[in-house]
Amino acid sequence: MNTGSETGRQVSDRIPVSWLHSYGYCEYQIYLEHVRGIEAGETPEMREGREVHAAMDEAHKAAAEVELGIDEALVKSQREQVVLSAREVQVRGEQLTGIIDEVVFFPDRLMIVDDKPGDIAWPGSKMQAWGYCLAFQEQWQPDLPIVAGIRNRETGYEIWAEPFTRRHRQAVVRAVSRIRQILDGEAMPRGAGNPRKCRACRFRDSCDARCD
Ligand code: SF4
Repeated sequence: MNTGSETGRQVSDRIPVSWLHSYGYCEYQIYLEHVRGIEAGETPEMREGREVHAAMDEAHKAAAEVELGIDEALVKSQREQVVLSAREVQVRGEQLTGIIDEVVFFPDRLMIVDDKPGDIAWPGSKMQAWGYCLAFQEQWQPDLPIVAGIRNRETGYEIWAEPFTRRHRQAVVRAVSRIRQILDGEAMPRGAGNPRKCRACRFRDSCDARCD
């Protein structure tokens, strides 16, 4: 599980990849939750998401035929030209840590999949997916291209996929740097400046920067 309940003062090591999703939505969320320690509570959507993920993990486990480590899966997929997949893959990059919903090992590429609600790949969701790609690349250093993907967790359909490039790596590194500055009090966080975002935000009742 990620460590999303840590406050800024406790983050001395790696940042949970899931924080990139909040950051992509509105960096003020990072400030409220991890600097000021405000707890917004779990929304019905978050609870439903947890339950759907648990069911997907159970189904994957029940269908699994072999149990392999990441290194073994990388070798087996290329040597035997087979497609393998692993769920709930823990990653620890240089600055990020988290659990990837699914890694699909194709003989010629890797796909890092994040399961999300709905059919829209929001910028925050893409940033989170890039974060998983970066952490995976740093930890396992695969000799294969990495593709990020987002899948509708209700339908199982892929709604977005894009190769992980140096530009995405730089975007994640910049985001992590900005998050650290906010946590350390070196940067003033900005509000979303978007009434639609603020109306849908789980921190709206506690936020002094909201604009709805
Ligand atoms: S209410 Fe608006 S400004 Fe405040 S954290 Fe949410 S999105 Fe950001």
